[in-house]
Amino acid sequence: MGPNQGAVMQVVRTLSDLRAACAAFRAQGRSIGLVPTMGALHAGHRALVRASVSSGAATAASIFVNPLQFGPNEDLSRYPRDEAGDLAALEAEGCELAWLPDVATMYPADAVTVVDLTGPAERWEGDARPGHFRGVATVCTKLFGQVRPDRAYFGEKDWQQLQVIRRVVADLLLPLEIVGIETVREADGLALSSRNRFLTVEDRATAPMLFDTLTGTAAKLRAGAEVESALADATARLTSGGFSVDYFALVDGPTLRPIGGMQENARLITTARLGSVRLLDNIAV
Ligand code: AMP
Repeated sequence: MGPNQGAVMQVVRTLSDLRAACAAFRAQGRSIGLVPTMGALHAGHRALVRASVSSGAATAASIFVNPLQFGPNEDLSRYPRDEAGDLAALEAEGCELAWLPDVATMYPADAVTVVDLTGPAERWEGDARPGHFRGVATVCTKLFGQVRPDRAYFGEKDWQQLQVIRRVVADLLLPLEIVGIETVREADGLALSSRNRFLTVEDRATAPMLFDTLTGTAAKLRAGAEVESALADATARLTSGGFSVDYFALVDGPTLRPIGGMQENARLITTARLGSVRLLDNIAV
């Protein structure tokens, strides 16, 4: 049993209930850890909750499928939803507060402010999904203002998103710490994602090749392989395996700028599609 397991989790759906619950934690002298999610929770999300709970903080998790981060041709309506399962998973991990706002609470009709950034939000997912990081940065800034957490937990799985959030918090001097949590994977290496359920049986069997290619390429680079040809080989391998590769790149971890040689904080990032499913993954080099 973790430190808070067995405690009753509060489920709140209005700002006034959220504020009362957070004020009660603070009155007890407890720090607050926030785990923002879009629901359809799996072991990756649970690892974020567990990290917060094990720090001793009162842990709040938000579940909000954020329309602002979906493009007009993206899968907002088919995004998986399982509120009962999610609440049970959160409570089992020792989460003490579930924050389930509706769209009107997050985006009141008179709201006109968004958080938009360049830097790490450019390129890669930023190019593939125009407006996506504006949506992510805006909703997270609002969640931080609502919950006022001491720490917020994000997965390294979404590497670019984690760097975007770190930049927003630094630039806007937001008084919280961002904690990145290592990617949780299936036994065969596939990074857990709510999208994996959309893979066909055949594509699910192919999918681990993505992580395998990342680790193989990282090993080659560490052994001194030339960057451009190692990246081209990786893309060719994935393509012949049946993936449509959006990008397979070596970048400076915090800024997401492409780099042509090995350096500290180098990161391999990739997005590749199997059928209509986009798989994102990345590793340190
Ligand atoms: P989402 O609900 O997909 O927006 O994800 C919520 C949080 O869970 C984000 O910070 C993700 O990076 C994180 N997350 C998603 N998948 C994983 C994973 N496989 N391992 C660790 N964290 C993850």
